[in-house]
Amino acid sequence: MGVTHDLVVLGLGGMGSAALARAALRGRRVLGIEQFARGHELGSSCGRSRIIRKAYFEDPAYVPLLLRAYELWRDLETRTGATLLDLIGVLMVGNAQSTILANVESTARAYGLALEQLDGPEIARRFSGTRPRPGERAVLERDAGVVFPEAAIGAHLSLAERNGADLRFETRVAGYDPLPDGIRVRLADGETLQTARLAVCAGPWLAALAAELLLPLRVQRNVQLWFWPSTPAFGAGRFPAFFVDRPDWPAPLYGFPDYGDGGKAALHAYGESTVPAELDRSIRAADIATVADLLAGWMPEAAGAYAGGRACMYTLTPDEHFIIDRHPADPRIVLAGGFSGHGYKFCSVVGEIVTELAFDGGTRHPIAFLSLHRFARGHASRK
Ligand SMILES: Cc1cc2nc3c(=O)[nH]c(=O)nc-3n(C[C@H](O)[C@H](O)[C@H](O)COP(=O)(O)OP(=O)(O)OC[C@H]3O[C@@H](n4cnc5c(N)ncnc54)[C@H](O)[C@@H]3O)c2cc1C
Repeated sequence: MGVTHDLVVLGLGGMGSAALARAALRGRRVLGIEQFARGHELGSSCGRSRIIRKAYFEDPAYVPLLLRAYELWRDLETRTGATLLDLIGVLMVGNAQSTILANVESTARAYGLALEQLDGPEIARRFSGTRPRPGERAVLERDAGVVFPEAAIGAHLSLAERNGADLRFETRVAGYDPLPDGIRVRLADGETLQTARLAVCAGPWLAALAAELLLPLRVQRNVQLWFWPSTPAFGAGRFPAFFVDRPDWPAPLYGFPDYGDGGKAALHAYGESTVPAELDRSIRAADIATVADLLAGWMPEAAGAYAGGRACMYTLTPDEHFIIDRHPADPRIVLAGGFSGHGYKFCSVVGEIVTELAFDGGTRHPIAFLSLHRFARGHASRK
């Protein structure tokens, strides 16, 4: 059997759809394979909103990637006519000891990013109904806000199709085998394909697919909840996205104003470990009670009647930095995963990076800190 494609992209969620679109734009013969139906909500990219911001507390090394991600989101909007970003600002709240706030500020200083400083009374005055605690302050990043994940996946897939990509849904990949003249992709129904290159963008399924690498990934159940606010002050257009870091809370609480379907709130990196096949997708009374209680502590009128919920998955690496690299045993295979609950905003640039790694043998983007090498035995951690 001969090679039928220049690149197969395994997984058409946030990252894979972007990689497929960028590879198709180069005029390459590309095929995307997705185990679920188009528009499914069973991976890590569901829930209608994701925060996008530049003053990155996780590590300033992400800023160059973010600058390009913003450009490529706008490029995708232009090419498809879709509205994918809503830069309503992100308000980060914490006390004087908050390392998250301190890191936001040091990243902003290092890259000359604009932030507004607000003390407690100013937070309450500007965002009526909020309840900052004594000693709390905030930074407001205006060039930040929301990216709409389902719409963005749809836009990347239609851009890929318009540029000649082949797409297969409800088709599960069982495994892949490097051969001298290509990579054999084995489908669960027994069919096999042969491709020159493979990009594995399998989200929480990555560790199982690339089992030979023994990737140190942990999948976590994360619940997103919507509540009907009892005040118009929490409506989109009036309230920013927010991230509240309080030392006595189990995790930081973040959320989004009401876009007509309720305001959304969730705890960051909080939930039990699971595996995708066993994820409890039901929403438990305790999930609702925990988030409603914390949301009420930040803005009581935001935490009105429960409007819905969805369980999703983080795929955490030990240092919570991504993995974007070529397979150590075969450079024709590119891996992008372990996005550790903060990857969505990067999908646009990850698509470009994966395409460069697959076709150019390297990338212009500074991603050495995301390499697999850091998990090699005996290698000192970066942090
Ligand atoms: C609740 C929650 C909130 C988040 N909030 C933010 C945020 O505010 N900002 C931010 O930047 N990031 C956020 N993230 C993180 C971000 O959403 C993820 O990093 C991102 O969605 C990961 O995309 P992905 O393409 O790796 O995974 P997915 O979107 O899950 O895509 C993987 C795809 O691969 C497919 N697949 C897997 N195995 C196979 C197989 N064998 N055969 C065929 N197909 C397969 C899957 O079906 C799936 O479609 C959040 C995540 C969660 C869960």
